[in-house]
Amino acid sequence: MHIGCHLMVSKGYENMGKVALEIGANVFQFFTRNPRGGKAKALDLEDVEKLRVLMKENDFGPLLAHAPYTMNMASYKEDTWEFAKRTLADDLKRLEDIPCSLYTFHPGSHTGKGYDYGIERIATGLNEVFTGNENTLILLETMSGKGTEIGYTFEQLRAIMDKVKYSEMLGVTLDTCHVFSAGYDIVNDLDNVLEQFDNIIGIDQLKAIHLNDSMKEFNSRKDRHAGIGEGTIGLEAIVKIITHPQLKDLPFYLETPYDPEGHRKEMELLKTFR
Ligand code: FE
Ligand code: FE
Ligand code: ZN
Repeated sequence: MHIGCHLMVSKGYENMGKVALEIGANVFQFFTRNPRGGKAKALDLEDVEKLRVLMKENDFGPLLAHAPYTMNMASYKEDTWEFAKRTLADDLKRLEDIPCSLYTFHPGSHTGKGYDYGIERIATGLNEVFTGNENTLILLETMSGKGTEIGYTFEQLRAIMDKVKYSEMLGVTLDTCHVFSAGYDIVNDLDNVLEQFDNIIGIDQLKAIHLNDSMKEFNSRKDRHAGIGEGTIGLEAIVKIITHPQLKDLPFYLETPYDPEGHRKEMELLKTFR
Protein backbone atom coordinates (compact mmCIF):
# COMPACT_ATOMS: atom_id res chain seq x y z
CA MET A 1 0.00 0.00 0.00
CA HIS A 2 1.29 3.44 -0.89
CA ILE A 3 0.30 5.87 1.83
CA GLY A 4 1.78 9.06 3.17
CA CYS A 5 0.93 12.62 4.05
CA HIS A 6 1.75 16.20 3.30
CA LEU A 7 5.26 17.18 4.45
CA MET A 8 7.15 20.47 4.64
CA VAL A 9 9.93 21.05 2.13
CA SER A 10 11.59 23.74 4.27
CA LYS A 11 14.29 21.40 5.65
CA GLY A 12 15.06 19.96 2.26
CA TYR A 13 14.17 16.97 0.12
CA GLU A 14 16.17 14.22 1.81
CA ASN A 15 14.70 15.36 5.12
CA MET A 16 11.17 14.75 3.83
CA GLY A 17 12.18 11.23 2.84
CA LYS A 18 13.61 10.60 6.31
CA VAL A 19 10.52 11.97 8.04
CA ALA A 20 8.36 9.81 5.79
CA LEU A 21 10.31 6.70 6.80
CA GLU A 22 10.07 7.60 10.48
CA ILE A 23 6.30 7.81 10.34
CA GLY A 24 5.78 4.75 8.19
CA ALA A 25 5.01 6.51 4.91
CA ASN A 26 6.23 5.39 1.48
CA VAL A 27 4.87 8.37 -0.47
CA PHE A 28 4.37 12.02 0.40
CA GLN A 29 3.09 15.31 -0.91
CA PHE A 30 4.89 18.66 -0.67
CA PHE A 31 4.49 22.24 -1.80
CA THR A 32 6.80 23.31 -4.58
CA ARG A 33 7.12 26.71 -2.87
CA ASN A 34 5.41 28.78 -0.20
CA PRO A 35 1.73 27.81 -0.68
CA ARG A 36 0.69 31.47 -0.35
CA GLY A 37 2.91 32.43 -3.26
CA GLY A 38 6.42 33.77 -3.54
CA LYS A 39 9.53 32.57 -5.27
CA ALA A 40 10.76 29.01 -5.03
CA LYS A 41 14.19 28.41 -3.54
CA ALA A 42 16.90 27.25 -5.93
CA LEU A 43 17.12 23.47 -6.05
CA ASP A 44 19.93 21.76 -4.15
CA LEU A 45 20.62 18.92 -6.57
CA GLU A 46 22.77 16.99 -4.11
CA ASP A 47 19.94 16.99 -1.58
CA VAL A 48 17.49 15.87 -4.26
CA GLU A 49 19.85 13.05 -5.30
CA LYS A 50 19.93 11.78 -1.70
CA LEU A 51 16.16 11.63 -1.70
CA ARG A 52 16.23 9.69 -4.96
CA VAL A 53 18.52 7.07 -3.40
CA LEU A 54 16.44 6.87 -0.22
CA MET A 55 13.28 6.35 -2.28
CA LYS A 56 14.85 3.56 -4.30
CA GLU A 57 16.18 1.75 -1.25
CA ASN A 58 12.82 1.91 0.48
CA ASP A 59 10.43 1.17 -2.40
CA PHE A 60 8.68 4.51 -2.38
CA GLY A 61 5.62 5.13 -4.52
CA PRO A 62 5.06 8.31 -6.55
CA LEU A 63 5.64 11.66 -4.88
CA LEU A 64 3.01 14.33 -5.41
CA ALA A 65 3.86 18.01 -5.67
CA HIS A 66 1.13 20.51 -4.86
CA ALA A 67 0.90 23.87 -6.63
CA PRO A 68 0.58 27.04 -4.52
CA TYR A 69 -2.96 28.10 -3.62
CA THR A 70 -2.35 31.52 -5.14
CA MET A 71 -2.20 30.00 -8.59
CA ASN A 72 -5.54 30.85 -10.22
CA MET A 73 -5.48 29.76 -13.85
CA ALA A 74 -9.16 30.72 -14.23
CA SER A 75 -8.64 34.39 -13.37
CA TYR A 76 -9.78 37.09 -15.79
CA LYS A 77 -7.13 39.42 -14.32
CA GLU A 78 -4.15 39.44 -16.63
CA ASP A 79 -1.50 39.67 -13.89
CA THR A 80 -3.05 36.80 -11.87
CA TRP A 81 -3.35 34.67 -14.99
CA GLU A 82 0.22 35.43 -16.12
CA PHE A 83 1.46 34.59 -12.61
CA ALA A 84 -0.37 31.25 -12.73
CA LYS A 85 1.14 30.33 -16.09
CA ARG A 86 4.63 31.41 -14.99
CA THR A 87 4.35 29.44 -11.76
CA LEU A 88 3.14 26.31 -13.52
CA ALA A 89 5.87 26.51 -16.17
CA ASP A 90 8.51 27.10 -13.51
CA ASP A 91 7.26 24.24 -11.34
CA LEU A 92 7.17 21.80 -14.24
CA LYS A 93 10.74 22.73 -15.12
CA ARG A 94 11.90 22.18 -11.53
CA LEU A 95 10.09 18.86 -11.29
CA GLU A 96 12.21 17.52 -14.13
CA ASP A 97 15.08 17.40 -11.60
CA ILE A 98 13.06 16.00 -8.69
CA PRO A 99 12.02 12.33 -8.33
CA CYS A 100 8.38 13.35 -8.37
CA SER A 101 6.08 12.25 -11.16
CA LEU A 102 2.77 13.88 -10.13
CA TYR A 103 1.73 17.52 -9.75
CA THR A 104 -1.69 18.46 -8.44
CA PHE A 105 -3.32 21.86 -8.74
CA HIS A 106 -6.63 23.50 -7.94
CA PRO A 107 -8.15 24.32 -11.34
CA GLY A 108 -9.09 27.83 -10.22
CA SER A 109 -11.93 30.23 -9.37
CA HIS A 110 -13.77 32.29 -11.97
CA THR A 111 -14.47 35.12 -9.46
CA GLY A 112 -17.68 36.19 -11.16
CA LYS A 113 -17.13 35.47 -14.85
CA GLY A 114 -18.93 32.12 -14.81
CA TYR A 115 -17.90 28.49 -15.06
CA ASP A 116 -17.70 28.35 -18.86
CA TYR A 117 -15.39 31.36 -18.92
CA GLY A 118 -13.21 29.87 -16.19
CA ILE A 119 -12.97 26.47 -17.88
CA GLU A 120 -11.95 28.08 -21.17
CA ARG A 121 -9.38 30.25 -19.38
CA ILE A 122 -7.82 27.29 -17.54
CA ALA A 123 -7.53 25.25 -20.74
CA THR A 124 -6.04 28.19 -22.65
CA GLY A 125 -3.48 28.68 -19.89
CA LEU A 126 -2.52 25.00 -19.83
CA ASN A 127 -2.19 24.96 -23.61
CA GLU A 128 0.17 27.94 -23.48
CA VAL A 129 2.37 26.26 -20.87
CA PHE A 130 2.53 22.62 -21.96
CA THR A 131 5.20 21.69 -24.45
CA GLY A 132 4.24 18.02 -24.57
CA ASN A 133 7.72 17.04 -23.39
CA GLU A 134 7.12 17.20 -19.66
CA ASN A 135 7.72 14.05 -17.64
CA THR A 136 5.24 14.99 -14.94
CA LEU A 137 1.56 14.13 -14.94
CA ILE A 138 -0.53 17.21 -14.16
CA LEU A 139 -3.50 16.39 -11.98
CA LEU A 140 -6.65 18.47 -11.72
CA GLU A 141 -7.94 18.28 -8.15
CA THR A 142 -11.61 17.65 -7.42
CA MET A 143 -12.80 20.71 -5.46
CA SER A 144 -15.50 21.35 -2.86
CA GLY A 145 -17.06 24.16 -4.90
CA LYS A 146 -16.65 26.91 -2.32
CA GLY A 147 -17.06 30.42 -3.69
CA THR A 148 -16.60 30.37 -7.45
CA GLU A 149 -14.27 27.36 -7.47
CA ILE A 150 -14.20 25.32 -10.67
CA GLY A 151 -13.76 21.54 -10.65
CA TYR A 152 -16.36 20.46 -8.12
CA THR A 153 -18.22 18.39 -10.68
CA PHE A 154 -16.74 15.63 -12.80
CA GLU A 155 -18.26 17.34 -15.85
CA GLN A 156 -16.25 20.51 -15.22
CA LEU A 157 -13.01 18.53 -15.00
CA ARG A 158 -13.91 16.66 -18.18
CA ALA A 159 -14.64 19.96 -19.95
CA ILE A 160 -11.16 21.25 -19.08
CA MET A 161 -9.52 18.02 -20.23
CA ASP A 162 -11.41 18.09 -23.51
CA LYS A 163 -9.96 21.50 -24.34
CA VAL A 164 -6.33 20.64 -23.58
CA LYS A 165 -4.18 19.66 -26.54
CA TYR A 166 -1.76 17.36 -24.71
CA SER A 167 -4.53 15.74 -22.71
CA GLU A 168 -2.34 12.67 -22.13
CA MET A 169 -0.42 14.85 -19.68
CA LEU A 170 -3.49 15.24 -17.50
CA GLY A 171 -5.00 13.18 -14.72
CA VAL A 172 -7.15 13.73 -11.64
CA THR A 173 -6.56 13.84 -7.88
CA LEU A 174 -9.67 12.84 -5.96
CA ASP A 175 -9.89 14.63 -2.62
CA THR A 176 -12.32 12.70 -0.41
CA CYS A 177 -13.22 15.75 1.71
CA HIS A 178 -13.79 17.91 -1.36
CA VAL A 179 -15.99 15.46 -3.31
CA PHE A 180 -18.13 14.76 -0.25
CA SER A 181 -18.63 18.50 0.30
CA ALA A 182 -19.37 18.87 -3.40
CA GLY A 183 -22.28 16.44 -3.16
CA TYR A 184 -20.79 13.08 -4.16
CA ASP A 185 -21.96 10.60 -1.55
CA ILE A 186 -18.86 8.49 -1.01
CA VAL A 187 -20.23 7.43 2.39
CA ASN A 188 -23.44 5.72 1.28
CA ASP A 189 -22.85 5.19 -2.42
CA LEU A 190 -19.16 4.92 -3.25
CA ASP A 191 -19.72 2.52 -6.15
CA ASN A 192 -22.13 4.90 -7.79
CA VAL A 193 -19.73 7.84 -7.41
CA LEU A 194 -16.93 5.81 -9.00
CA GLU A 195 -19.24 4.76 -11.80
CA GLN A 196 -20.04 8.42 -12.49
CA PHE A 197 -16.34 9.21 -12.40
CA ASP A 198 -15.67 6.43 -14.87
CA ASN A 199 -18.46 7.45 -17.22
CA ILE A 200 -17.58 11.13 -17.28
CA ILE A 201 -13.80 11.24 -16.82
CA GLY A 202 -12.60 7.63 -17.06
CA ILE A 203 -11.34 5.77 -14.01
CA ASP A 204 -7.90 5.38 -15.62
CA GLN A 205 -7.42 9.14 -15.29
CA LEU A 206 -7.57 8.85 -11.51
CA LYS A 207 -3.96 8.96 -10.31
CA ALA A 208 -3.99 10.02 -6.66
CA ILE A 209 -6.26 10.20 -3.62
CA HIS A 210 -6.18 12.96 -1.03
CA LEU A 211 -7.45 11.04 1.96
CA ASN A 212 -9.25 13.38 4.34
CA ASP A 213 -12.27 13.39 6.59
CA SER A 214 -14.50 16.47 6.55
CA MET A 215 -15.58 18.87 9.28
CA LYS A 216 -18.59 19.95 7.24
CA GLU A 217 -21.76 18.14 6.34
CA PHE A 218 -22.47 16.41 3.02
CA ASN A 219 -23.02 18.80 0.07
CA SER A 220 -21.97 21.83 2.16
CA ARG A 221 -19.65 23.20 -0.57
CA LYS A 222 -17.20 23.94 2.26
CA ASP A 223 -13.57 22.90 2.43
CA ARG A 224 -12.55 21.97 5.98
CA HIS A 225 -10.47 18.85 6.48
CA ALA A 226 -10.88 16.69 9.59
CA GLY A 227 -8.70 13.91 10.98
CA ILE A 228 -9.43 10.36 9.79
CA GLY A 229 -12.57 9.10 11.54
CA GLU A 230 -13.21 12.46 13.20
CA GLY A 231 -15.52 14.00 10.64
CA THR A 232 -18.71 13.53 8.65
CA ILE A 233 -17.17 10.89 6.35
CA GLY A 234 -16.08 8.61 9.15
CA LEU A 235 -13.67 5.70 9.49
CA GLU A 236 -15.96 3.05 8.01
CA ALA A 237 -16.34 4.92 4.71
CA ILE A 238 -12.63 5.71 4.60
CA VAL A 239 -11.78 2.04 5.06
CA LYS A 240 -14.09 1.21 2.15
CA ILE A 241 -12.16 3.71 0.05
CA ILE A 242 -8.69 2.33 0.82
CA THR A 243 -9.84 -1.25 0.25
CA HIS A 244 -11.99 -0.64 -2.83
CA PRO A 245 -10.80 -2.74 -5.78
CA GLN A 246 -10.76 0.31 -8.08
CA LEU A 247 -8.86 2.49 -5.59
CA LYS A 248 -6.66 0.31 -3.43
CA ASP A 249 -3.62 0.43 -5.72
CA LEU A 250 -3.59 4.22 -5.99
CA PRO A 251 -1.30 6.32 -3.78
CA PHE A 252 -3.05 7.90 -0.76
CA TYR A 253 -1.93 11.22 0.71
CA LEU A 254 -3.30 12.47 4.03
CA GLU A 255 -3.99 16.19 4.31
CA THR A 256 -5.49 15.94 7.76
CA PRO A 257 -4.79 18.69 10.31
CA TYR A 258 -1.95 16.90 12.08
CA ASP A 259 1.80 17.02 12.44
CA PRO A 260 3.88 14.03 11.23
CA GLU A 261 3.38 12.23 14.57
CA GLY A 262 -0.40 12.50 14.22
CA HIS A 263 -0.15 11.27 10.64
CA ARG A 264 1.92 8.31 11.84
CA LYS A 265 -0.95 7.23 14.08
CA GLU A 266 -3.52 7.68 11.32
CA MET A 267 -1.49 5.59 8.90
CA GLU A 268 -0.90 2.91 11.51
CA LEU A 269 -4.64 2.66 12.03
CA LEU A 270 -5.44 2.61 8.30
CA LYS A 271 -2.87 -0.10 7.56
CA THR A 272 -4.59 -2.46 10.00
CA PHE A 273 -7.52 -2.57 7.57
CA ARG A 274 -5.44 -3.63 4.59
FE1 FE B 1 -5.34 20.65 -2.79
FE1 FE C 1 -6.61 18.11 -1.39
ZN1 ZN D 1 -9.12 21.00 0.90
